[in-house]
Amino acid sequence: MKLPKELHEKKELGSTTGKNKSCTIGGCKKLAIRSLSESKWKDYLKKASLKYVENRAKKIYLCKEHYKDVKKEKQKDEKYAQKKGFLDDVAPFRRDGF
Ligand SMILES: [Zn+2]
Repeated sequence: MKLPKELHEKKELGSTTGKNKSCTIGGCKKLAIRSLSESKWKDYLKKASLKYVENRAKKIYLCKEHYKDVKKEKQKDEKYAQKKGFLDDVAPFRRDGF
């Protein structure tokens, strides 16, 4: 009997073929659903106060939950960037979440 790969975090170091990456966030051992480029996303991880374990591939692998957190940060950022562009036109004075 063999254990499923994702239970063996250590195997990740050896195999780069894989679909079965685990989340790179420290302490999180869930299966990653996303692989993101480190240079693009590390700032958002920082904003979400998540610490990831660096790897040689310069990739960040995130499980569903952590991806959600980070995506939230990214969207905030994009909203902000958009706002700057639209400033003269619309004055969005909404503070209620959306
Ligand atoms: Zn995670």
